[in-house]
Amino acid sequence: MVSPSLPSGFTFSQSSLQDYSDCPRRFQLRFIEQLKWPAIETEPVLENERRQQEGQLFHRMVQQNLIGLPNEKLSRLANTPNLSRWWGNYLGHNFELAGTNQRTELTLVAPIGSFWLQAKYDLVAIKPGERAFIYDWKTYHKRPREEWMAARMQTRVYRAMLVEAGAFLNDGNPFLPDQIEMIYWYADYPSEPAHFPYNPTQHKRDRDALTGLINEIGNHRHFPLTEDEKKCAYCPYRSYCNRGGKAGTMDEMNESEPSETDINFEQIAEIEF
Ligand code: SF4
Repeated sequence: MVSPSLPSGFTFSQSSLQDYSDCPRRFQLRFIEQLKWPAIETEPVLENERRQQEGQLFHRMVQQNLIGLPNEKLSRLANTPNLSRWWGNYLGHNFELAGTNQRTELTLVAPIGSFWLQAKYDLVAIKPGERAFIYDWKTYHKRPREEWMAARMQTRVYRAMLVEAGAFLNDGNPFLPDQIEMIYWYADYPSEPAHFPYNPTQHKRDRDALTGLINEIGNHRHFPLTEDEKKCAYCPYRSYCNRGGKAGTMDEMNESEPSETDINFEQIAEIEF
């Protein structure tokens, strides 16, 4: 049954679960009260905004490359230092996709607990009956530690959801956890991708944890502020919580707050040539 505190038809995502895990109050403000962005996230504002826009365009360029648009056309769009560097790194990297079926901007949805959970993938590359590789492009300012990425909701949700809802990609047979691997490719650290294989124990752990977390949120009526006030420096809801009026800087940003918002494919404008 849908909790009255959540909007009707609410579908969970790695992003909303991460918000709740970081700060229940942030989840409430963003997803229940649906407040827009009342404060800047990071200083300097323009630099951060530009990097986020560049990150979105980079995702679109890679997607267009993967569906076959010519590199010469796409390369013209790499007209800033960041985009030029990321694009050059992308074109120069061997992603070992030969022999795979590739699905870009794929969305999977499955019931978890009393709600629906969705995952939006940059790329899933499949060798039917053998392996499935989940690729995610990151334009982070700093490369995070493996332990930190392993604990991210994205890592847990994306692998679990491919098991739960990916059978149609595998001739109707659900992928076994052992067949799945998630790879974060960092555009600024092209030779240091992070690999996260999967196994049945991890899948059971993730499924149980996600079910528990989603049901907990659905039954919640009280959303406390995080006790870790470091998270507030990069949070746009600071003014609602009396947690400071000044945004954190990109230079001070540690790996707990990489300078990249979640990419929402629906919000990325189509590339015009
Ligand atoms: S400012 Fe801090 S307490 Fe308030 S929503 Fe953001 S992270 Fe949570």
